Amino acid sequence: MNAITLPKIELHCHLDGSVRPETIIDIAKIEGINIPSYDIETVREMMIAPLDCTSLLEYLKKFDLPIKIMQSKESLRRISFELLEDAAQENTKYIEIRFAPLHHIREGLTVEEVIESVLWGIRDAEVMYDIKGKLILSCMRNMPVDTVYEVIEKGKKYLGKGVVAIDLCANEDKGFSKRFIEPIAYASKLGFRVTIHAGETGIGRNVLEAVKLLRAERIGHGVFIKDCVEAYEIVKSKGVTLEMCPTSNVQTKAVTSFSGHPIYDFHKDGIKVTVNTDNRTVSDTNLSNEYDVLIEEFKINYEDYKKMYYNSVDASFADLTTKERLMKYI
Ligand SMILES: [Zn+2]
Repeated sequence: MNAITLPKIELHCHLDGSVRPETIIDIAKIEGINIPSYDIETVREMMIAPLDCTSLLEYLKKFDLPIKIMQSKESLRRISFELLEDAAQENTKYIEIRFAPLHHIREGLTVEEVIESVLWGIRDAEVMYDIKGKLILSCMRNMPVDTVYEVIEKGKKYLGKGVVAIDLCANEDKGFSKRFIEPIAYASKLGFRVTIHAGETGIGRNVLEAVKLLRAERIGHGVFIKDCVEAYEIVKSKGVTLEMCPTSNVQTKAVTSFSGHPIYDFHKDGIKVTVNTDNRTVSDTNLSNEYDVLIEEFKINYEDYKKMYYNSVDASFADLTTKERLMKYI
């Protein structure tokens, strides 16, 4: 089985973590932005987290440079286009990208301009390549709860126009879901689908709460349901889909090695798992590489692959026509 030639779907990919290093330098020069180095190797080093990174917090520091660059309509449009271009070139047929609009208003853009620029980039790529893209709006759980309402209010008019869902991300504290019950319920009522980062840093119970209190349909990572029976049971019985990202999980120390990743055990036990990059640049990976890890470590076969592909189609926030089209690739 050759991962690069397989049709693929990605449901968990951060825009700011997937910027090409060359593009950082190029935009810095075009827009006159001061960055610490214009040398490609140094910039790559600043953007890529090593496999022996110590924590999620250290991993998240790698986003500073790209966010500094992503403050104009042109750069946001270009970076979104390039992400879909990179994905299309490894035979990804559908991708949901996510980002936090509030990180991109430092130089005066409005939240609406930020979202529209990213949507333009997605559309540009859809015209040129055999790929479709949708957008998930991420909210930072370390910011005040009011900021979630701001993203919802300003993002709601793009529902049905490329925006499909809301997400909570950033460092994970115990019991975070309780703070966000009202805004996420409100988003849901408006038509946003819900995916939540949880169970990435050792707290399996956070997954249980994200499903029960926030009605998350999908969970970003969910690694630590392995240590929480109640979380494991609710994910399994409700068919909640896990968006798993093996390389990222090694970097953030959710697992100590690829062989210790629970994805294959989950899959064999009937949990709906999907495979994703999390961040193509920060994790120095692509989707083919993530599948290669599973082929190498767990000897997954084509039947396993097909199941994960179906899980991805099923759990995607795409419309029915897109889902039917995706089913024809495999
Ligand atoms: Zn993520």
